[in-house]
Amino acid sequence: MPKRNRLRACASRPTRSNAVKSASDSPVGPAARRLRDEAAAGIASPSARRLVSTARAFRTALHAWYDQHSRQLPWREAPSLYQTVVSEFMLQQTQVKTVLPYFTRWLAALPSFPALAAADEATVLRLWEGLGYYTRARNLHRLARCLVGMSPAPRTPEAWRDLPGVGPYTAAAITSIAFKAHAACVDGNVVRILARLTADGTAFRDSAEAARHFTVLAGALLSAERPGDHNQAMMELGATVCLRHQPRCTVCPVRPFCAAARLGQPTSFPRLAAKSVQHQLVIRVWCERAGRLLLHRASASARRLASIHELPTASEAGIAAAQATRGELLARKRRTITRHHLTESIYVAPAPRHLAGPGLVWVPLSQLDAVTLSGPHRRWIGEILAARRAD
Ligand code: SF4
Repeated sequence: MPKRNRLRACASRPTRSNAVKSASDSPVGPAARRLRDEAAAGIASPSARRLVSTARAFRTALHAWYDQHSRQLPWREAPSLYQTVVSEFMLQQTQVKTVLPYFTRWLAALPSFPALAAADEATVLRLWEGLGYYTRARNLHRLARCLVGMSPAPRTPEAWRDLPGVGPYTAAAITSIAFKAHAACVDGNVVRILARLTADGTAFRDSAEAARHFTVLAGALLSAERPGDHNQAMMELGATVCLRHQPRCTVCPVRPFCAAARLGQPTSFPRLAAKSVQHQLVIRVWCERAGRLLLHRASASARRLASIHELPTASEAGIAAAQATRGELLARKRRTITRHHLTESIYVAPAPRHLAGPGLVWVPLSQLDAVTLSGPHRRWIGEILAARRAD
């Protein structure tokens, strides 16, 4: 069945509140070792072949370090499929220290797939507020609704990739950690480590191309016995030792295997094309009327910030930019979203008599907590109101 049809079938299944069970159809033990050997046989690069020839010793060093030095993280304490899935979604493009308070709050409010599946979207978005990339929250919600209708839960990366919001990396992470599936995770951290271990000078257009390039090597190094721990050890090494700008080679457990460290040039690898950055100026307006603040709610089908509120841009509020900038400047903020560097200026503007565009809503200042705002806008609005109280 084509992927789109499978997802539609998943979405239309009635949800059940049964706990998610699992089936045993992922390769482990000898089957996993055979997969790994097949991957190794397909490697052409001499430096990668040298590394693979020492794979057993490499894994021993990596796992010993991980067993001793891995960070205590809440999703590792008493791991479950649910905790693994939630943490992997939250960690997409987000650092561990940012995720920690969100993970704890989420687990307290929605402790299981059935609880998440039964929650309404507003609750889900509210719990996610401030983490950004809200599509992840919606996909996690849809995924929970799919999984409670499935028994047992799928165990292979291929099956997980048919589920909402699950790409190759997330599928490998979830199935290797939860089911010991033989699936190597390849993200920016792993690309960096493998490029340095092999001093691979290939020039890549982007991180996706680099990830594809190193997937076979990652699979050839993967532990057949501990694939989940192995993947987490690689991620941990990239996050805490093999850092992008200042790799800590003197304390690195796999330094004896590292060609870039031998050359004395670890930061020369990997060779990724610089991202083009776009600068953008945004004029926003602060309109108040009778204790209510004008906000803009993005449409439910918007690519970014679907159903999330922000202060309106001048054009969303139907106010010409030249007129808006005549008002008092309340704040000027800078932030980066993917490769867009935004400078957002917030001006006091007269309240429009009629709400011109779609998505404009008046929200009582006393009820701002009841709507889902993007993280930066909640912070900025709080700062502006606090400054006003202090005057
Ligand atoms: S020796 Fe240095 S460059 Fe090589 S993997 Fe370790 S930290 Fe990275």
